[in-house]
Amino acid sequence: MHSRPLLGQTLTELTAWVTAQGQPAYRAKQLHQWLYQRGVRHFQDITVFPKSWREQAQLELGRSHIAQRWIARDGTVKYLLQLHDGNLIETVGIPSADRLTVCVSSQVGCPMACDFCATGKQGFTRNLAVHEILDQVLTVQTDMARRVSHLVFMGMGEPLLNLDALVTAIHRLHQDCGISQRAMTISTVGVPQQIARLAQAQLQTTLAVSLHAPTQELRQRLIPSGRHYPLEQLLADCRDYVARTKRRVSFEYTLLRGVNDTPELAHQLAKLLRGFQSHVNLIPYNPIADADYQRPTMEQVQAFQRILAGEHIAVTVRQTRGLSAQAACGQLRSLVGTIAK
Ligand code: SAH
Repeated sequence: MHSRPLLGQTLTELTAWVTAQGQPAYRAKQLHQWLYQRGVRHFQDITVFPKSWREQAQLELGRSHIAQRWIARDGTVKYLLQLHDGNLIETVGIPSADRLTVCVSSQVGCPMACDFCATGKQGFTRNLAVHEILDQVLTVQTDMARRVSHLVFMGMGEPLLNLDALVTAIHRLHQDCGISQRAMTISTVGVPQQIARLAQAQLQTTLAVSLHAPTQELRQRLIPSGRHYPLEQLLADCRDYVARTKRRVSFEYTLLRGVNDTPELAHQLAKLLRGFQSHVNLIPYNPIADADYQRPTMEQVQAFQRILAGEHIAVTVRQTRGLSAQAACGQLRSLVGTIAK
């Protein structure tokens, strides 16, 4: 795209653009409404605009193309989206009785290479731009014909490696799309210095940190990037984040059978988090190709949970959604044809 896409611009910026086009300023309000509320995909489709302008302006708004869509048995919808340069990303819409959550990607691929994550196996291509982040939310909202209420930045990529675009997108999603920041969760595996930078952005979002192990030795085996970010430092940065933002941090812990789900490790995890205003979210492993891990039984998951709860750690088990469409946590990978329909 040569010029800056219209999607991602504020009303003030749109007004400047509209008037530079020789159009009256009130058209900016209409454009804003069509972009952020109606989720229009093509400039030509903004039917309140004069036909001559629509035809001559041949503009790209900054929207993706839905290359493919899978609907899981539980109603979760996974989208394969094609970007303007041909790159593919995945986005997931997760409906429930009282909310529609979008699982948003922040990068094409991911450089973190976690051993149990399909995106990590694919390698890294590039960061997403602000409009490419917004587009995912608008795509789900219009396609599922329902207002998006919640966002989790848990799709492809490591959000804190694309922090500037992420923060700008969050402001647009809040101010222009009307989604509450408190209904947004940013999930990170941890990137040195970036948690402190996120704190500076003064958002009302929730921070979730992918922990997955209570010891440095085990953690860096599962998460190679953890080698450069010792567990103690990561936890110190989380404590700092809580102190500075007055927001809670939650810890994600993907349970891999026989690897990190033993009672002994549950006790070690409880000890590690003692006194920390936090919450642990256990994620039973979702199977992926090219990895030998196994999902623990429900009894094993509950046993792990009971130990934490017994040690006064707030703990929940993440409900698995989208499994039948390979749309569950860690299963996103943008290779067409590899996913059974
Ligand atoms: N890059 C971000 C978001 C990842 S997805 C992060 O690492 O935090 C959200 C969660 O799903 C992370 O905690 C991630 O480690 C976990 N996850 C990855 N692969 C998984 C799998 N196959 N089964 C279950 N959880 C997985």
